[in-house]
Amino acid sequence: MYCQVIVDIVHENVAKPFTYQIPEGMQLAEGQRVAVPFGPREKEGVVVGLTEESEVDPERIRNVTRPLEDYAAIPPELMALAKEMANRAHCPLAETIRLMLPAQMRGGRVHIKIVRTAALSVSADEAADAIRVCRTGSKRAQLLKILQDGRSRTVRELSESVRDPGEALKKLENDGLIRLEERETLRTPVGVFTEIQDPGYELTECQQEALEEILPCLTGRGGRFLLHGVTGSGKTEVFMKAVHETLAAGKSAIILVPEIALTPQMVSWFRGRFGAVAAVIHSRLSAGERYDEWRRILRGEARVVIGARSAVFSPVRKLGLIVIDEEHESTYLNDRHPRYDTREVAGSRCQRENATLILASATPSILSFARARRGDYTLLEMPRRVHDRPLPEIEITDMRQELEKGNRSVLSSALRRALKECAEKGEQAILLMNRRGYNSFISCRSCGYVVKCPNCDISMTYHIGGEDGILRCHYCGEAMNPPVLCPECGSHYIRYFGAGTQKVEDEVRKMLPGIPTVRMDYDTTGGKDGHGRILEEFRSGRARILIGTQMIAKGLDFPQVTLVGIVAADLALNLPDYRSRERAFQLFTQVAGRAGRGQHPGKVFLQTYKPEDPVIGFAARQDYRAFFESEFRRRRNSLYPPFTVLGRLLVESRDEEAAERTAGELEERADALLELHPEWKKKVLTVNRDTPSVKYLKGKSRKHIVIKALIGTETDAFFGAMTEMAAEWPATGSEVWFEINPTSMM
Ligand code: ADP
Ligand code: ZN
Ligand code: ZN
Repeated sequence: MYCQVIVDIVHENVAKPFTYQIPEGMQLAEGQRVAVPFGPREKEGVVVGLTEESEVDPERIRNVTRPLEDYAAIPPELMALAKEMANRAHCPLAETIRLMLPAQMRGGRVHIKIVRTAALSVSADEAADAIRVCRTGSKRAQLLKILQDGRSRTVRELSESVRDPGEALKKLENDGLIRLEERETLRTPVGVFTEIQDPGYELTECQQEALEEILPCLTGRGGRFLLHGVTGSGKTEVFMKAVHETLAAGKSAIILVPEIALTPQMVSWFRGRFGAVAAVIHSRLSAGERYDEWRRILRGEARVVIGARSAVFSPVRKLGLIVIDEEHESTYLNDRHPRYDTREVAGSRCQRENATLILASATPSILSFARARRGDYTLLEMPRRVHDRPLPEIEITDMRQELEKGNRSVLSSALRRALKECAEKGEQAILLMNRRGYNSFISCRSCGYVVKCPNCDISMTYHIGGEDGILRCHYCGEAMNPPVLCPECGSHYIRYFGAGTQKVEDEVRKMLPGIPTVRMDYDTTGGKDGHGRILEEFRSGRARILIGTQMIAKGLDFPQVTLVGIVAADLALNLPDYRSRERAFQLFTQVAGRAGRGQHPGKVFLQTYKPEDPVIGFAARQDYRAFFESEFRRRRNSLYPPFTVLGRLLVESRDEEAAERTAGELEERADALLELHPEWKKKVLTVNRDTPSVKYLKGKSRKHIVIKALIGTETDAFFGAMTEMAAEWPATGSEVWFEINPTSMM
């Protein structure tokens, strides 16, 4: 027997499998990790295939040294998934295999945590006799006394009462009085999550109806659902019940959330209800904890896994259900190599394992809703909030009129009034400002010069803090002192424009002194549990107004919040990307949905300079259907996804000319490929060589070629060829990527 082994999966340069012979008597399975000889050294690898024969010269085939574990680290279903993903993404299998293993198993040493324990090996009476002959107060006597009740203790526990018990324990063992053992243990992470008991809700009619459609699939051969429920309709309760049923059927469930740190409530709900059968894959787990959670899952001890996108690869036993909460979030797209869309991966995993997939959102992505309409998913709708609580009322405030009235503040007079009232009533408010910092740019009134980052084609943002504050680039982190005179024309008329979260907080504090506020953005959430601390501050009521970037729009459930302000809606609408309308609508609806989730109804102010924009109108009416129809039509008319596929070749180089030259060469190669394959060419609508809207970034010049093509196997093949071309592009001072439906076109 022979096996194909991917050796040392950390290094990309040895991505292809090598053949080894399996020695007599050794049993190996696909997915098992092995030690193999590789050149003069021994390396770790993963078995990706087993064959009876081999075409390699038998003289040159070496033996597998030994299996590293006695089980397959990658179960067969996940191995099949890795192969399928590699095929689809046109990348080496080593890259997708890496996704299936916790960091510690990818090359580095695997550390298993050992605890040493001690227990009596004689009866309590015999121990009492032994104590009597010891010197009183001796370590021996103390240890025997502790252990006399027959329970075992860890050596660590014992050392809390007896200093350095090691030697004494050894002697007691030699005398046959106690037994020392070494046991492998799992590091179960104890986080900040508080346990919550099952609230025993009686399901609403909407919840009941949705659940009734899902339940038969959980015990049967699976199904695919899109759960479209307005904010506060109680979607979580629907998947809790579905998870419950999955467990009862002897199967396991995976719950995916956009970002664990931003969804502590969801995590505590699951922890509270499912206890130790729930594993939480958290980015702040240590590598050891992560590895141990992974083993708990593989052994079938943890049967509910909650995590961000990579948790879709959890090696659960008997998968029955995958839930993707807030499925519209872009965090479900993995931008790094290998690129994948979690929703697609989950779909193929469920299909392969006869499991049920539930995508849930109050604002489904255009792509998923279009699929549901086509019948790929069963659409489940929950149009009402629990207890028939009303959706918040959204009022559009025209900031042009505010300016005419002489209000130069970032807060309209209506929002100011509402904030005051809210504070007086002791309720809470959320203000969304989708940019951090104080001012978003600095510009010269005389000549129009804008201060940009020296490395990036991005304006510098002014942050307060320190004496004069500082200018920062949000792309590369470059910092500089703000100029006093215009660097271009020397004029004094250098002014600060645009607002960020810091400025909003500043204005709120000036207006409502004494009302505690808390700010949540990239700048305040650094460090261990930064998000958790801020959310707790707000949840407990210590802070009354939460100001933040889009981080605050994700699924938070704070019943005291009655007011939401969307401070600068235009920021989200004006991004140069075909998805900006979709993202803006989602953001507005989601953040508005944070209001009025408790006893008191909510009110939302949407501030804009463009109140006539249809997206603003759809958001204000919270009319997802109308938004979908309009956006769907627009995408069809202008041939954007999901009607087409976009491919982008991105070139970056320190040398602008080299970037230009490379882009030219790439375009020629693409054209040549299309000439060679007329069937591919038929699908291609446009090929555009251009400079991206961000001309340079982190000191590198950028060029791109954007290809728009119709959906089809021919386009897949063409884009596959482009992916390979980019991956194999010789290192000549330019870096080249090919991205399919990139998350950003800038
Ligand atoms: P969604 O995710 O749909 O926005 P959640 O799942 O966060 O909504 O639920 C909103 C709130 O309603 C939560 O506080 C939840 O505990 C509560 N809730 C859910 N279902 C019920 C029910 N059947 N009866 C009472 N309250 C419920
Ligand atoms: Zn100037
Ligand atoms: Zn920069």
